[in-house]
Amino acid sequence: MDSLHTLYPSIDGNKASRDEMVSYLQYVLEQLDKMKDPNSLILGEEQLNSDSKTYYHMLAEQAFIPEKGHAIDQTLHQLIKLSEGHRVSNSNYLANASSMPNTASLVANFLMTLLNGNNLWDVEGSTSANVETQIVSMLSKLIGFDAKKSGGYTTWGGQGATFTSLRIAISKRYPEANKSGVPRNLYCFCSELSHYSLHKSMEATGLGTDHLIKIKANADHSINIDDLRKQMETVIADGGVPLYVLTTMGTTDTFGIDSIKEVKELLTELEHKYKLNDIYLHADTAMGGMFAFFNEYDFSANPLNIEKDVLDQLTNIHDKYQHVKLADSLVFDFHKLGQTPYVSSLFLLQNKSDLQAVDLHPEETPYVGNKGFGHYHTSYTLECSRAGTSIPIYASLLTFGVEGYQRLLANYLSINLAFRKRLKTEFKFVAITNELSPITTFRFYQDGVNWEEEKYGLSTQQQIQSTNELNEKLIESMGVDRKDLYFGSTRKQCTVRAIDTNEQVNITSHKFFSISPYTSIEDMDRYFRFLHKHVDELLVMK
Ligand SMILES: *Cc1c(COP(=O)(O)O)cnc(C)c1O
Repeated sequence: MDSLHTLYPSIDGNKASRDEMVSYLQYVLEQLDKMKDPNSLILGEEQLNSDSKTYYHMLAEQAFIPEKGHAIDQTLHQLIKLSEGHRVSNSNYLANASSMPNTASLVANFLMTLLNGNNLWDVEGSTSANVETQIVSMLSKLIGFDAKKSGGYTTWGGQGATFTSLRIAISKRYPEANKSGVPRNLYCFCSELSHYSLHKSMEATGLGTDHLIKIKANADHSINIDDLRKQMETVIADGGVPLYVLTTMGTTDTFGIDSIKEVKELLTELEHKYKLNDIYLHADTAMGGMFAFFNEYDFSANPLNIEKDVLDQLTNIHDKYQHVKLADSLVFDFHKLGQTPYVSSLFLLQNKSDLQAVDLHPEETPYVGNKGFGHYHTSYTLECSRAGTSIPIYASLLTFGVEGYQRLLANYLSINLAFRKRLKTEFKFVAITNELSPITTFRFYQDGVNWEEEKYGLSTQQQIQSTNELNEKLIESMGVDRKDLYFGSTRKQCTVRAIDTNEQVNITSHKFFSISPYTSIEDMDRYFRFLHKHVDELLVMK
């Protein structure tokens, strides 16, 4: 038995055992640092194998549990080898909201695993129960929820938040649905540019994706209120029940922000007009939620000296985000723009009492929560055991403060602004296809920028598609050099109407998405050398 003790931390806090742990951490940190290169997107050298179609099959075939265990350092050595070729979220990664977790959150994450509390209840996880309660209150106050009434918990991503919000919407309106299954005539609504989270949740709750109505988006990628009204009234006229509306506040590809105020006004109007029960309103703020940190910013005094164009855009974002408190629920996806490790997302509800709709009866949880000690029992979550991911979130909030996050977010916009300005001067045939945000979407043209025509339905299907093809070739060609620099891309940044058909046509575009705190104006030279290398070649070819 003694030899097994060497596989664990000490029980008495002795120094020798701690030093051993520190030596392992030191080894891991040193090895990763050795493989870092600010000019490369990956750690060390590229591991070509993962490109081959048979790679994972081969891995699976060769994998066995060793008969005799290895020494810890051997195991770590093996893992370090496997870390080679891993992408780093440095300034060479320009594709998605891939976070470089901040140091406080990383260490807090380690602390979380050392404590290894189960966030299911406070007897198992007193630290996370404490900290989770605090961050729910902190963020409620930030966005303007009444912190005495609001509730929430950390969960599995923006997707988990969407799923839970839908589950609550069903059970709150139809308590009997928990026993007898979901009614057949319920309908949900979201913009055509929403994340697929709601699509999946329609499947998983049993409502069915046929009952999800996709609403047209405006040219600024926000939901079209007139179409929402029309579609909701059609459902009502056909005897359906509008149950739930999802407003996306920061679309995944283009950062379009729905006007939650207008959506809420419409829902209130329809509820009165047709004598409907309250329609549940979830704000999908997985991408944009951190911008609520500007809710209390003094835009006229501008204490952080934010440059004018960025400030103007922050004002636009703020105009919509100040109303986010109208939502019944929303999410702070810290592992995106909040820069913490995966998975750290806080689902937040305006009314904690809504959770009762999906709670278990104490009779059904004989193991926990009702033994007379511990008052925090989250029996309403879909998860049973839950990690204490409120701990890294809390660490980030304390370490950054409101101002730290404001500076971080303003910097994302400054970098994008610089990129946009340069893009326009370096290339003649390029269009920027979204509003200033942490994301810039752009698209190249063979002989003349056509974006305004495309956007307003004045191009032919053929024209749009041939520009799509040009940009798809570029995506392929840039992909070859992906270990140096990786721009994002999307084959459906939005859809537009073609002048010669009734069909909506997808728009292909490139994405510049940098949330690395290390990205600076100096990096632009590299970005544009890279773009020129690929674009110039393609645009001369006819
Ligand atoms: C990323 C994203 C999600 C999903 O969030 P996860 O944390 O990946 O589960 C949902 N909605 C939007 C708008 C997103 O950008």
